[in-house]
Amino acid sequence: MKLPAEPRLSPVTPRRRLHVITWGCQMNVYDSGRMADVLAPLGYTAADGPADADMVILNTCHIREKAAEKVFSELGRLRLIKEERAAAGKSTILAVAGCVAQAEGAEITARAPYVDIVLGPQTYHRLPEMVARAHRAAGPVIETDFPVEQKFDFLPEQQAAPGALTAFLTVQEGCDKFCSFCVVPYTRGAEASRPAASVLAEARRLVANGARELTLLGQNVNAYHGEGTDGRDWGLARLIRALAEIPGLVRLRYTTSHPRDMEDDLIAAHGDVPALMPFLHLPVQSGSDRILAAMNRKHTADDYRRLIDRLRAHRPDLALSSDFIIGHPGETAVDFAATMRLIEDIGFAQAYSFKYSARPGTPAAGAPGVVPEGEKDNRLAELQALLRDQQTAFNAECTGRVIDVLVTHAGRRPGQLGGRSPYLQAIHFDGPMTLLGEVVPVKITHTSTNSLSAALIFTPSKQELAPA
Ligand code: SAM
Ligand code: SF4
Repeated sequence: MKLPAEPRLSPVTPRRRLHVITWGCQMNVYDSGRMADVLAPLGYTAADGPADADMVILNTCHIREKAAEKVFSELGRLRLIKEERAAAGKSTILAVAGCVAQAEGAEITARAPYVDIVLGPQTYHRLPEMVARAHRAAGPVIETDFPVEQKFDFLPEQQAAPGALTAFLTVQEGCDKFCSFCVVPYTRGAEASRPAASVLAEARRLVANGARELTLLGQNVNAYHGEGTDGRDWGLARLIRALAEIPGLVRLRYTTSHPRDMEDDLIAAHGDVPALMPFLHLPVQSGSDRILAAMNRKHTADDYRRLIDRLRAHRPDLALSSDFIIGHPGETAVDFAATMRLIEDIGFAQAYSFKYSARPGTPAAGAPGVVPEGEKDNRLAELQALLRDQQTAFNAECTGRVIDVLVTHAGRRPGQLGGRSPYLQAIHFDGPMTLLGEVVPVKITHTSTNSLSAALIFTPSKQELAPA
């Protein structure tokens, strides 16, 4: 269907409404925000929901099974909304973005011809032009190439919600590692890092808008190697040290990292940059050297153990998180036992674990030694029970301790506040709203697997809360 001519934006033009549905990782959350930023100059502001939206973007994730099927099922729902709006004389642009868009491309509009725009993760800076083309064209607009220009050079400033106390900041994208199971190198393209000046400028704006904590994002964020403000190559540690100088920025985190890219100065930064929080998500995937080799991870289980020892030598209280894949082709009971041993040895504060799912086009997809689903289920349940016990124990050890919490939101009950510990645990306690955005010490009174309850030790005075 051809959309009506694009309305020109003028003071009397009604604002247009945008609804973004985000699936997947934190990078998709960040990308969704940036797509909204790119469309803001065209008059798009947030809609309450798809029925109220002149444009709906479905930002998709391709990492696990049935990703495309989930997208088509959601598109079926959005199609009905689009038709109801059309019956009421309102047009709707329907766009599919993210990694499924990149992987499926024209297949999406072949199966769902009511979709107007299909765009990959590297092209969303071109959205305004795509919207204009969607209004002009009789057919769909499909942009899934990897453009030569860096999208970050073309994006407007991030419009963080005023008062957002924590924010994501993408510093690196893409992956050159080609793990046997993973679609990311195909959907996100080659590794690329933003220049430090652009990252620092965005960070300063976010902090000026109220952010106290920044999480640096990248598919392999510790592979960051960008142009420094001195013209030299900066690794992630150098970037973190520069960001830590920003007045008002009290906490820094980064995710997701690869064990092979933990360089010496990054390990050292965990010991000597106070703003860098003692929490690290460092996926290991398996504890079996045989499976790690089959996964093309290029490290062994003992390499990982030694790396953790070095990190803990610099930061003894470092809390660790990881990703595990259960049932990669060829995984035997012996391999699985090695993974359980690694978990016992390291002790994780939290972790994510997934059943292996074959992703078409990846080397593992056709590999022999497929693990039966029932076996995968049993192993996953056993592994998750161990990880849950470790998480419960990690939290329980905090009982009675005084821990700094960055207060980020009001709690569910009146008078209750919520925030995060340095180790990323959710903490709730009673206190005044004036503490929002502050880092305050609290005493942990009760713990569970997923959160901590605490009591304020003292309510800081206004002077104590004054920014440094
Ligand atoms: N770059 C990170 C690394 O190397 O560890 C991981 C990024 S990936 C987007 C997030 C996680 O999804 C992976 O760590 C892995 O555990 C999981 N994952 C990726 N492909 C998968 C697959 N085919 N089946 C199951 N889990 C998968
Ligand atoms: Fe995927 Fe991470 Fe491996 Fe890259 S390093 S291929 S993103 S799992």
